[in-house]
Amino acid sequence: MKTILVAGGAGYIGSHMVALLLERGYEVVVADNLSTGHWQAAKGAKLRVGDLRDSAFLDRLFTEFKIDGVINFAAFSLVGESVKNPLKYYDNNVGGSISMLKAMDRHGVDKIVFSSTAAVYGEPEKQPIEETDRTEPTNPYGETKLAIEKMLKWSDGAYDIRYVALRYFNAAGSNTEVGIGEDHSPESHLIPLVLKTALGQRSHIGIFGDDYPTPDGTCVRDYIHVRDLAEAHLLALEYLDKGGKSDAFNLGSGDGYSVKEIIDTARKITGKEIPAIVEPRRDGDPSVLIASNKKAGEILGWKPLRGLQTIIADAWNWHSNHPNGY
Ligand code: UDP
Repeated sequence: MKTILVAGGAGYIGSHMVALLLERGYEVVVADNLSTGHWQAAKGAKLRVGDLRDSAFLDRLFTEFKIDGVINFAAFSLVGESVKNPLKYYDNNVGGSISMLKAMDRHGVDKIVFSSTAAVYGEPEKQPIEETDRTEPTNPYGETKLAIEKMLKWSDGAYDIRYVALRYFNAAGSNTEVGIGEDHSPESHLIPLVLKTALGQRSHIGIFGDDYPTPDGTCVRDYIHVRDLAEAHLLALEYLDKGGKSDAFNLGSGDGYSVKEIIDTARKITGKEIPAIVEPRRDGDPSVLIASNKKAGEILGWKPLRGLQTIIADAWNWHSNHPNGY
């Protein structure tokens, strides 16, 4: 494996994948329509701007480069927006993946690592969540990712394209050496919003509910460093390259932290007050989401190395050095 196509490589997690692949000596081709990504995030890669739903664009790309494997991050990912405009999500997320799989089949590329999400589980039946647990998404975003996982499964049987679907829990952190980080607009995730509050860009951070059945009443999530995520994708590619069979894996730390614990840790790391106000619950938030990462450990040999302190310290490094993003 020499040349890897990273679709959505100008986005948050995709750009961290690009940085890792470049560091390990791969040739990296990025396909991104730059609808939410930033070209500056994909530096060092060969960037081709276009939409995955455009099959002529993909044909040009697979003709220009001899691609050995694909990693697909390209998707819309705002849960609230997906409820208001589900067809936008089905069109882009599912449509983009259909087009990518067809192009792979046309050009004889047989390995894909796919960005999935813990949102495929919906309201979990138990903690920690295992890959065999019920998948019943509670929003269209999660439904599109589950639909693509199922599509990948059938495509394996029909076209011999093997896949690994990686179900991310809460990605955070940055790459302080390369100088890339999280820059969403609008931003909806807890850690960047807490750090924007520390920078004085927001008056306070809203805590969405403090009456959940958790130790301090606020929601518990499993935060995972974006670099650890990228390393799992590389292991997944190598696994497929060695002939590994198609499968889905959780990517989480296995540890849960509450919203209040995140804010307290950020206060310690930034030395800022970070005012917080309890607000009503946000629709569709399960009280606790914690991954079992046993399967990824056993089959891919993946072990997350960076804990919450590193996650928040690295995110703070990015936000304090790039207060207005890219
Ligand atoms: N959250 C919050 N205030 C915010 C943003 C998020 O209290 O301004 C909470 C949210 O309810 C959830 C956790 O922080 O329990 C993580 O939310 P995020 O949107 O970062 O990720 P999600 O778990 O929804 O993928």
